[in-house]
Amino acid sequence: MAEKKYPIRTCVACRREFNKKELLRIVRSNTGEIFIDESGKANGRGAYFCGRKECFAKMVKSKALDRALKESVPDDVYSAIGEVVLERGK
Ligand SMILES: [Zn+2]
Repeated sequence: MAEKKYPIRTCVACRREFNKKELLRIVRSNTGEIFIDESGKANGRGAYFCGRKECFAKMVKSKALDRALKESVPDDVYSAIGEVVLERGK
C-alpha cells in the first residue's frame, strides 16, 4: 500500500475523502464557540466539509455538521459556510 503524502479527511456530508487542504474546517472550540477555522489549526473538535453546493444542501438538511460537532450549529455559521460555497462556485 502506498504511503499517503498528505493528510486525508472526510467530508461530513458526502463522506468522501479529500486532501485536508481542499476542505473547509469548522471547529467547536473548548468554550463552545462554533466557527470556520481558516487556519486549520484551531483547538477544539473539528469537522470537514468539501464545499460543494449539493453537499451544503445535504449538510443543512441532514444536520450532519451538528452531529459531527455534537452541538447545534447556529444559523450564522451556516450562512458563513454558504458564502464560502458560493465563492468557490463548485
Ligand atoms: Zn462533501
